Amino acid sequence: MRQYPRSLNKLINELGKLPGIGGKTAQRLAFHILSLTDREAESLAEAIVEAKNSLHYCSVCGNLTDKEVCSICADEARDRSTICVVETPQDVLAMERIREYHGTYHVLHGAISPAEGIGPADINLKSLIERLQSSDEVKEVIIATNPNIEGEATAMYISRLIKPAGIKVTRIAHGIPVGGDLEYADEVTLLKAIEGRREL
Ligand SMILES: [Zn+2]
Repeated sequence: MRQYPRSLNKLINELGKLPGIGGKTAQRLAFHILSLTDREAESLAEAIVEAKNSLHYCSVCGNLTDKEVCSICADEARDRSTICVVETPQDVLAMERIREYHGTYHVLHGAISPAEGIGPADINLKSLIERLQSSDEVKEVIIATNPNIEGEATAMYISRLIKPAGIKVTRIAHGIPVGGDLEYADEVTLLKAIEGRREL
């Protein structure tokens, strides 16, 4: 990098570590931040620190929350007989946007990927099994992992693990393009995918 002051280099470097931010964008963002008022820049820094300090994973489902249990798990009106398994908290938001799903969730925080050395023990799977073992009210587990190699491998693994317990396991339909992210699917596609789910 050119002769920028050390603190500016540091800012550019940190911004450049964010997903989808290349070197040029990192520089542009850094100069934008420098153009903010002190108050605006502090507010941005505070938002980062506050989010990191106050947010953690729901002790039941793994969704992001600032409480012990997330608002969905705490909601008495949700149907506890169905658990929808997703990869990320963003996927929970995507599912909630279609307003047609009234069950609960389980967030894996990833997917099984032998190629990247990510095994079943590296994702939030053990707590799903514990959830199923501790209660007999769950009748169906809908696996809504992404339609790519990792997502399919994860779906098959979970299916084999929990089907012997007599729980119905379904997989969302392929309305979502192969290799696509659940998070970015439009609402109609996502609704079709959940309606057209098939039993594994
Ligand atoms: Zn929860």
